[in-house]
Amino acid sequence: MERTLVMIKPDGVERNLIGKVINFFEEKNLRVVALKKVRLSKKQAQAFYVVHKDRSFYESLTDYMSSGPVVAMVLEGENAIQKVREIMGATDPKEAKEGTIRKLFGLDKEKNTVHGSDSPESAQKEIPFFFSDYELLSAE
Ligand code: ATP
Ligand code: MG
Repeated sequence: MERTLVMIKPDGVERNLIGKVINFFEEKNLRVVALKKVRLSKKQAQAFYVVHKDRSFYESLTDYMSSGPVVAMVLEGENAIQKVREIMGATDPKEAKEGTIRKLFGLDKEKNTVHGSDSPESAQKEIPFFFSDYELLSAE
């Protein structure tokens, strides 16, 4: 069993896609362990995406990620990290495969509806960014 951090980005929340996005994951046998809707401040968005701080899109990305509420969740399942990345599809919706969340709902390379941890190391940092030990324990 593996855990990963998924976020429904502001464009997904704005368009009422929370239920549809979660359904993609539940259908593939991933279980919601913990879930919350929050609005990130600019500073929190900068901290969450700090690995991208030197990229040209960092300023725009962190403005966007703090522009409206997001839904953060911890998903659990076999091979959850890799599985979520496949269900989401490529970063750019134009390059995402048929049947993926980003192909169906993504607006552009930035407003691509979902985030998923890209490695066990990322998941280990991203899960505690949103959820306390208590919130994770109480969900079991
Ligand atoms: P995420 O980390 O959100 O799951 P990802 O791992 O597919 O997405 P990253 O390379 O980590 O992609 O980029 C993080 C996010 O930054 C992307 O999901 C997207 O919202 C934004 N982004 C990435 N590349 C670009 C770009 N060239 N122009 C604008 N925004 C971008
Ligand atoms: Mg990433």
